[in-house]
Amino acid sequence: MIENYTFNETHTRFEPLNNKCTYCGEAEMKSIDDCCFVSLYAINDRTNLIVYRSVKYAAITIGVPRCSSCKKIHISTQSKANWVSLGISAFVLVFIIYLFFGFNPFSIVFGLFGIFIGAVLLAPKLTETYTSNQGIYTMKDGAETNQFIHDLVMSGWSFTKPSA
Ligand SMILES: [Zn+2]
Repeated sequence: MIENYTFNETHTRFEPLNNKCTYCGEAEMKSIDDCCFVSLYAINDRTNLIVYRSVKYAAITIGVPRCSSCKKIHISTQSKANWVSLGISAFVLVFIIYLFFGFNPFSIVFGLFGIFIGAVLLAPKLTETYTSNQGIYTMKDGAETNQFIHDLVMSGWSFTKPSA
């Protein structure tokens, strides 16, 4: 599936030659900057590293074709999800902490930490829901339907950075 892609040496990334938006399956991508760029990491030395002109890459970026409308939806659903999850976890935690610990320096620090963790955990789920409600694929689901990315993941590449 690599034949559908061209390697951009300046940005060290694979850019799609196919312009059909992966996320809505309808519109055409007008600008390469609207792409959803996904990073993949080689898990170990034995993973088939991509060798391009004798340079080995352990991390590569692949563009998933996306139209400008889907890009807007992805950005707005993500920021909406961030704010809503921050609001929800703040509301819940302030209430719980005040109830159990009262108002003191400890509960403020603990509360702020908890609000942050709650928001981080909740945001991806909300983003997913909001994005599906708009009738398009989420960034991750779209990436997973991409054949090139799928093949790389099957051969041992990972969406998450391996810890050293
Ligand atoms: Zn689209």
